[in-house]
Amino acid sequence: MKRIGLLTSGGDAPGMNAAIRAVVRTAIYFGLEVYGIERGYAGLIEDSMMPMNMRSVSDIVHRGGTMLRTARCLEMLTEEGQKKAVDTLNRRGIEGLVVIGGDGSFRGAKCLTENYGIPTIGIPGTIDNDLQYTDYTLGFDTAVNTCIEVINKLRDTMNSHERISVVEVMGRSCGDIALYAGITSGAEIIVVPEIPFDMDDIVMRINRSRASGKHSNIIVVAEGVTSAEAFAKELQEVTTHSVRSTTIGHIQRGGSPSMADRMLAAQFGNKAVRLLKDGIGNRVVGIHKNEIIDMDIIEAVSMKKQFNFELYETLQMISM
Ligand code: ATP
Repeated sequence: MKRIGLLTSGGDAPGMNAAIRAVVRTAIYFGLEVYGIERGYAGLIEDSMMPMNMRSVSDIVHRGGTMLRTARCLEMLTEEGQKKAVDTLNRRGIEGLVVIGGDGSFRGAKCLTENYGIPTIGIPGTIDNDLQYTDYTLGFDTAVNTCIEVINKLRDTMNSHERISVVEVMGRSCGDIALYAGITSGAEIIVVPEIPFDMDDIVMRINRSRASGKHSNIIVVAEGVTSAEAFAKELQEVTTHSVRSTTIGHIQRGGSPSMADRMLAAQFGNKAVRLLKDGIGNRVVGIHKNEIIDMDIIEAVSMKKQFNFELYETLQMISM
């Protein structure tokens, strides 16, 4: 293999730039040429790309977002779009592809591999942590840290006014951001898509905490359940305590990546290129039990994300 392509696709995540840097520099180390493809599969279909060198990825390790930019590309879902993408790769002499993105992006990579024989390696880049095969996705740690920072600030003002704060976090249909942010910020209650909520039980828990001397409460709601605004409205109807809602929103997707995400980015990027240069495609990289792993892409995208009920129980036990 002499030339590889690299793209970021789907929702952006802190650490994508650090992963781009790791891919480019590892590739150059092994004597491979790298093309940076702009705006995900859209750039691949439209042949929008540039050769990258050591200096193309200078000064990005600490930046959020993605220097290659990202997009959701409907054309890639069609056979016509996929053929255009393959034509671009063939015309450019690109023999392998690294895709940094979430499960949708991996489905695109799987399609290129399965239907057109293009060796691809997926790097899990999404704040949602919604991929079962890897313990963590790139960007999740930074996003949760951002939530913690916001919740810390909310706690100050909620305490002063003896209020209940309902905080909406991202994660689409996955409750991991709510779970991890809830546990690590000391929230009393989390509401996640994986577990139906009972408003009477929530009110009971709030009342119990107030009776034991608490002056405020934090409830973290995952966006996959409902909005903070709607939840706060429903709660306000059944409690005498004052309720306020906050939606953290896209702040979660930006910012300088944490140490954990930069480390993952370095290891994922490095592993992805090592696989490709050894002629191994059709894999995704990840981390499991603190070890960098790789797995068949078809197997990885077919695994259903499991919620960590043990962590949820831990929160229930220590949050009051
Ligand atoms: P995030 O989890 O952060 O949203 P994602 O990678 O899951 O990231 P998607 O919007 O689901 O984001 O997918 C990104 C892109 O991947 C799509 O816009 C499309 O171009 C491509 N893609 C998704 N599913 C498929 C598929 N089944 N076949 C081919 N391409 C796909």
